[in-house]
Amino acid sequence: MAEFDVVIIGAGPGGYVAAIRAAQLGLTVACVEREAALGGTCVRIGCIPSKALLESSERYLEARDHLADHGVKVGSVEFDLAAMHARKDAVVKANTDGVAYLFKKHKIERVHGTGRLAGAGEVVVETAEGERRLRAKHVVLATGSRVADLRGVEVDADRIGTSTEALAWDEVPEHLVVIGAGVIGLELGSVWGRLGAKVSVLEYLDRILPGMDAEIAKEARKVFKKQGMDIRTGVRVTGASVKGEKVTLSLEGADDVVADRVLVATGRKPNSEGLGLDEAGVQVDGQGRVVVDERFATSAEGVYAIGDLIHGPMLAHKAEEDGVALAEMLATGHGHVDYGLVASVVYTDPEIASVGRSEEELAAQGVPVRKGVFPFAANGRARAMARTEGKVKILAHGDTDRVLGVHVIGPRAGDLIAEAVAAMAFHASSEDVARVVHAHPTLAEVVKEAALAVDGRALHI
Ligand code: FAD
Ligand code: NAD
Repeated sequence: MAEFDVVIIGAGPGGYVAAIRAAQLGLTVACVEREAALGGTCVRIGCIPSKALLESSERYLEARDHLADHGVKVGSVEFDLAAMHARKDAVVKANTDGVAYLFKKHKIERVHGTGRLAGAGEVVVETAEGERRLRAKHVVLATGSRVADLRGVEVDADRIGTSTEALAWDEVPEHLVVIGAGVIGLELGSVWGRLGAKVSVLEYLDRILPGMDAEIAKEARKVFKKQGMDIRTGVRVTGASVKGEKVTLSLEGADDVVADRVLVATGRKPNSEGLGLDEAGVQVDGQGRVVVDERFATSAEGVYAIGDLIHGPMLAHKAEEDGVALAEMLATGHGHVDYGLVASVVYTDPEIASVGRSEEELAAQGVPVRKGVFPFAANGRARAMARTEGKVKILAHGDTDRVLGVHVIGPRAGDLIAEAVAAMAFHASSEDVARVVHAHPTLAEVVKEAALAVDGRALHI
């Protein structure tokens, strides 16, 4: 039986990054993955393909509707959906191949098959060639998550799909109904809306993007409405029936809605089944998440868990940081993730990004707050780009001025948030951010101006 310091089950951003870091630190590592390609949900059917389609559809719209404003004449503009998908597939392949290359480079043994725990320090893998057993000092569960079921709405992978299907539809639906106004619903709703679908979004709560700062989410809702998205909140879908090429959704207390395609985007759940957790004594909580302590240790000796499988936001960068911290703990005894600084980004147009606490959270906690807001409309670069929608909002402690939350809706918000994360990691005050020289003309000046605005001294408004 092959023996390793670490055997990891799952090669998503949690598992593959843990594998690389552990190997960098001199541990022998095997990584078990049931799919033929490495990279997990994020690389194969999540972050990467969705961003590829968002990019392509955004460029189409830019060429069709906005290039003329810059004096660029392109004539009539059309898109080729098959070519967009082919490009997306190539982007995904470059990334999955990239992970395979990194495994080779770091001498990580790749095991293709479905793994499960099989007693202390042992993993059994069902491979195409039969069963293979691996022994390890440490076993890491990094099996990620999958789409959560929605009662009454059965995914048939044709008319009713999840994000996986919605990333691959070969024709633009006439009427797409998205259930759930969260990240996936708004990102993929945007893609198909840009390509010509009528997009209706049905959300159970009375707001979109739960968890995000309410003021920013409200502004986002207005922007999506302007883009033609029909968002209905406070709506409960109770059932779905497919007849031919149409889906009829029944709603509680409201008329049925008929769609050509339905995207179920109401959240994800951890892949904690079929891993032999019960037999191994690994505790799972009521939501199917593997319970871990602050060192990622489960209730079974020598078994650890990271990423979407455990508590915390289901985000690729969070899974990666879990992986790095765990590998460092196993090799050196030390590792750390600051979960207060995991930024969230929605890659719509404009982008929406946030880090730290929202205004509502701070109010509920009774924290005194000073707030600075600055609009992109007053920024020279944003005007030059014709991208003046949105704003940056900085929340600082009322007494100490320490930055507690930064919330952005606007062009490149996902990139701009990195400055806020770095500032908060170094416990910056809004005064610190305001006094840093920001190059001109850049979108980042909006962050500086919002910091100045905390003290009522923004310069360009
Ligand atoms: P996963 O990526 O789910 O990887 C787990 C791996 O384990 C999979 O490859 C799976 O095949 C494998 N596996 C499971 N069980 C077994 C087993 N028994 N044996 C062997 N292998 C097994 N996050 C962001 O931060 N930014 C984004 O822009 C973003 N966009 C997204 C878009 C979509 C459409 C979706 C669905 C998700 C998106 N996410 C995004 C979330 C992100 O994909 C996840 O948070 C991330 O992939 C979690 O990483 P992980 O390693 O924990 O799990
Ligand atoms: P989500 O939790 O972001 O949003 C789900 C939405 O569906 C919520 O607004 C929720 O209130 C609503 N909802 C739940 N049940 C409902 C019902 N019965 N009827 C109507 N609405 C209902 O989940 P998601 O969009 O499916 O994304 C799953 C995960 O993937 C998220 O945790 C997210 O972090 C991650 N993800 C991240 C990104 C990114 O970082 N850009 C992109 C895509 C996905």
